[in-house]
Amino acid sequence: MSPHAVGFREASARAVLDPALREAIRRVTDNLAVRRVQVTAELPHFDVLRDRAKRIKEHTLANLDRYLEQLEAAVQARGGHVHWARDAEEAAACVVRICREAGARRVAKSKSMVTEEVELNRALREAGIEPVETDLGEFVVQISGDRPSHLIAPIIHKRREDVAELFRRHLGTPADAPVPVLTAAARAHLRQAFLQAEVGITGANFLVAETGTVVVVENEGNARMVTSLPRVHVAVAGIEKVVPRLADLAVFLPLLVRSATGQRLSAYVSLLTGPRRPGERDGPDGFHLVLVDNGRSRMLADPELREALQCIRCSACLNVCPVYERAGGHAYGSVYSGPIGAVLTPALTGGRGLVDLPFASSLCGACRDVCPLRIDIPRMLVVLRARAGRTAAARWERRVARVAAWLLCRPRLYRWASLAARALEPVVRNVPVGPLRRWTRARELPRLSPTPFHRTVPR
Ligand code: SF4
Repeated sequence: MSPHAVGFREASARAVLDPALREAIRRVTDNLAVRRVQVTAELPHFDVLRDRAKRIKEHTLANLDRYLEQLEAAVQARGGHVHWARDAEEAAACVVRICREAGARRVAKSKSMVTEEVELNRALREAGIEPVETDLGEFVVQISGDRPSHLIAPIIHKRREDVAELFRRHLGTPADAPVPVLTAAARAHLRQAFLQAEVGITGANFLVAETGTVVVVENEGNARMVTSLPRVHVAVAGIEKVVPRLADLAVFLPLLVRSATGQRLSAYVSLLTGPRRPGERDGPDGFHLVLVDNGRSRMLADPELREALQCIRCSACLNVCPVYERAGGHAYGSVYSGPIGAVLTPALTGGRGLVDLPFASSLCGACRDVCPLRIDIPRMLVVLRARAGRTAAARWERRVARVAAWLLCRPRLYRWASLAARALEPVVRNVPVGPLRRWTRARELPRLSPTPFHRTVPR
């Protein structure tokens, strides 16, 4: 989570003035949201699964130390190595060390947000090791020097023409190449990365404590290549990804896939347990699991924010969020965008983004309604807002509240003020200047009610 030069307020102000970006985001998020509704409606026991998943996550987080130790023992029993990283630097340094020991000059990567969080690519490059992103969206992000803007659709902000131009420059495809030609070019290019990489690096959707299994959910098949062709596989995952039993996947997989992409099941679900064993035809010779804390223990110890650790990164909350739809993912300044990002970023970093991210929400509750874990994001945003207030970021809000309280305690003055507001309304609406200007550039000023509030209250 590298510090971001521009805060949410400025970045979102720019984004809302970009109609093409808003249209691109709306098209994809609407499509994902509609598909989610359709496929979840097919499962009559979907809500039962949600409740079950919630209970499993609550139980696991309450006993996280025990399950992490069980996971470590299970991985080691199957010939793998477990590494513990307290923060981003330790995580990146650990992966670099493993790559060096494997003599790697090139690594192939897939399906890992946490490696973005710990800025692994920068650390690898500084160590003279070339990382190649092999998820198609992440590959486009990498060659364009960009950043992902959605949890599962990292190039939601790019048009087909943008990708065609990138591929023309990097892969030599025609400028007007249709999508199948572009994907075929990427496939041919990435195949070399799979074959040449000495180390494959992935994340994990789930880690099964009982068996030491890393679960990777994907649609492109590249994660399977990354975990089976290179000599060494390194899985990098946050400590909250652990689930107790293999049977728990029967609860989490339908929730994740249906909530994320609106599919009944993703094209590939890989269950990876340790390195290749005698008699097995493929798989790595060495397997390493890097367990990343990086602020998660602090969140776990925080009863008001702990719930955010239940997130399974399905992105359903992004796809229904009116703020995300207008601001786009980059405005959040973190790999974790959208409503859950507005909680995770300040919570994981101990305060970065606290000034404005908790306010990047209308608190409409749509995120909580669609979340497969029923995570109460609005509640946590309110908690963070209160903390931001305590850190002086919302000083002006407190002043406004004080003035309002003073006015509301003086009925005669309040009536005069409400008459004045009514008289000034057309002026304010038509000449948007001063502090209202930024607000009215992207929104319509709500009309004053024909009946003032004090007249609606029975005397
Ligand atoms: S908070 Fe819920 S809806 Fe949002 S990404 Fe996490 S699990 Fe999905």
